[in-house]
Amino acid sequence: MTAIEQAAEAIKHAKRILAFTGAGISVESGIPPFRGSKDSLWEKYNPEIIDLDYFHAHPKETREFIRDVFYKYMSRTDIVPNAAHKFLAALEKEGKLHAIVTQNIDNLHQMAGSKTVWEFHGTTATLSCEHCDYKIASKDLDLEAEFPPRCPKCGKVIKPDFIFFGEGIPREAYEGSIAATEDVDVCIVVGTSGLVMPADMIPIMAKRNGAKIIEFNTQPSKFTEQGMTDIFVQGKAGEIMSRLAELIGAEL
Ligand code: NAD
Repeated sequence: MTAIEQAAEAIKHAKRILAFTGAGISVESGIPPFRGSKDSLWEKYNPEIIDLDYFHAHPKETREFIRDVFYKYMSRTDIVPNAAHKFLAALEKEGKLHAIVTQNIDNLHQMAGSKTVWEFHGTTATLSCEHCDYKIASKDLDLEAEFPPRCPKCGKVIKPDFIFFGEGIPREAYEGSIAATEDVDVCIVVGTSGLVMPADMIPIMAKRNGAKIIEFNTQPSKFTEQGMTDIFVQGKAGEIMSRLAELIGAEL
């Protein structure tokens, strides 16, 4: 049996699946990852730009990055979920997949119809005041105007709701993600290098809890290299998952 056929068999027989996704799942939708290709964001920007202390000290320098992430990629109307996002949504609809833990901040799982999505690193969908309860949707923000925007209630800085380096994981997402690793028989890992901590602990915990790890990536990840992966299917997530949907008879 080929790796994709083995993956199809495991998914067919699984009762409770968890998916753990990273930037690679959204590459075919047109959003570049941080690492792994010449178009990666860290080839263009210094990661320091989204360090919390740097943001506070040099807010204006983060402007170009935030604009690019919000407008050039995340908020473009032609950026839509691909077959991989749709496949995971279809598995949830069938009652097989119970949750997605995503490191992504692009909202594409929700756009594909997935309901239980733990956003481990927050989201680009909203921005919040760091000092009061003011929140604004990113679509309502004028990033051509002065940046960072000031809170209309208290005048303090408004920050995107995705986490910067130096920030903790949002509490609810953290607790939900840990709980989601319990009682799963298969953990699907898609498009992640596995290099970002503590997110990397999610598949590790699922494996310890008895789950089989099925990984989809264009190249081996930390999980593959550490021998944690039970089935490795190499290729582009969207292409592979279209084929997988055919093999298990799921409708995308
Ligand atoms: P990463 O950038 O470290 O790694 C991307 C991974 O995707 C690599 O392993 C690469 O081989 C793989 N990949 C590339 N194209 C693929 C494809 N078509 N199909 C399958 N796999 C493919 O990403 P990461 O592990 O998610 O961690 C980095 C951080 O990046 C996360 O914290 C996340 O918040 C952030 N990020 C998110 C987005 C997004 O929301 N779409 C985009 C860039 C970065």
